[in-house]
Amino acid sequence: MEVAIIGGGASGLIAAIVAKRNKANVKIYEKMNRVGKKILATGNGRCNFTNMYISLDRYHGTNIKKAAKVLNFFDLSYTLSFFEDLGIYVYTDESGKVYPNSLQASSILDVLRYEIERLNIETITEFEVRELRKNKEKFSIIGSDRTCYADKVILCCGGKASPQLGSDGRGYEIAKSLGHNVIEPFPALVQLRLEGKYFKRMNGVKFEGTVKAFTDKKSVREDNGEILFTDYGISGPPILQISRKVLEEMYKGANVFLSVDMFPNLSKLMLYDIISDRFKRIGYKNLEDSLIGLINKKLIPVVLIEAGLERKDIKCSKLNKREIYKIIDILKEWKFKVVGHNNWLQAQVTAGGIDLSGINNDTLESKKVKGLYFAGEILDVDGDCGGFNLQWAWSSGYTAGYFSSII
Ligand SMILES: Cc1cc2nc3c(=O)[nH]c(=O)nc-3n(C[C@H](O)[C@H](O)[C@H](O)COP(=O)(O)OP(=O)(O)OC[C@H]3O[C@@H](n4cnc5c(N)ncnc54)[C@H](O)[C@@H]3O)c2cc1C
Repeated sequence: MEVAIIGGGASGLIAAIVAKRNKANVKIYEKMNRVGKKILATGNGRCNFTNMYISLDRYHGTNIKKAAKVLNFFDLSYTLSFFEDLGIYVYTDESGKVYPNSLQASSILDVLRYEIERLNIETITEFEVRELRKNKEKFSIIGSDRTCYADKVILCCGGKASPQLGSDGRGYEIAKSLGHNVIEPFPALVQLRLEGKYFKRMNGVKFEGTVKAFTDKKSVREDNGEILFTDYGISGPPILQISRKVLEEMYKGANVFLSVDMFPNLSKLMLYDIISDRFKRIGYKNLEDSLIGLINKKLIPVVLIEAGLERKDIKCSKLNKREIYKIIDILKEWKFKVVGHNNWLQAQVTAGGIDLSGINNDTLESKKVKGLYFAGEILDVDGDCGGFNLQWAWSSGYTAGYFSSII
């Protein structure tokens, strides 16, 4: 029996290995000149390939409960032993993110490729699948200049995020042509564009802080860590983490705002004591100079403008309590309106995708076309930042590879 894997990314590579170990005749069709390009870019080149705290509540999608069986079938412990058997010694950081101990994403790709070669799995690169048809028992896999055939197909060619690494959304068109419903994709784990005129001045400023997203009616999500102001708005791990929920609300038509806290470990009262004491001790300095050393210098004029205290000549000792609190309000609750996001080129993950209700949630086989399976980001499942997306790729790739080769 021949199983065709369309897309040699994380989910496709593991699917190929499992199917071949189950004695299927496996071929990988990959449009780029080599497989696994996206894996090399993951985790800032270190590949955060899973997380010690995998659970369904770290995943999102319209029918997300249907992903539970797949995450349990090839779970964290199976994933760790699968990679350990291939030679990966793991390093886990204090937040639970798991990396290869080499801290090289290439290690993950190397061990997968080594296993693909050891199992003699045929990999056909620079083959972009344009169309997929099923005639009686066989699938026709149609490329630009030739057609190949298979008994079963696993469609795992990714979503729309980072198309420069191969995944450009064509998989959705293929799935639609075979009767599947696609939940409208939008970028997740992406930088946010904010309203405001001072971002060029603040470009490059980093700090450890907390960000809270909210609409007129409710709070949306919050996270903390290193935040970065950019010339278009805001970036950094906490921003990527909250971006999915922010954009979900925006696409529903809500106005979404961020509140940024640059001193998350201090209450407003504690910060007041620190600043008023400072203003007493260095009361001879003007307002701008008095904040040097407390916050990044690039932020000082902007914070003062936002606080309505733009008088450059005034000595800091002259500020009254109400004016000090105006500064504190900006440092602890700087409010911005979200006006958009960066494009697919910068997005790490796709939210939306092939609707899970059209798929058997035990096996990942299509309910519409017998012998067609799905895996990875092409499905309407996206995870938080922290190894959750690759875990979904491993779990779903393993599941599709396993069931396509035994049934
Ligand atoms: C910069 C970046 C950093 C990331 N870091 C992490 C991280 O640290 N941890 C984590 O968990 N997740 C991370 N992710 C997300 C994670 O990489 C993806 O969710 C995961 O790789 C998805 O696997 P996949 O197999 O579904 O798709 P992909 O890895 O996108 O693979 C799809 C493959 O299909 C091929 N293809 C596409 N269309 C066709 C076609 N028509 N014919 C043939 N082949 C086709 C593509 O070329 C590609 O090789 C990151 C993503 C990016 C972009």
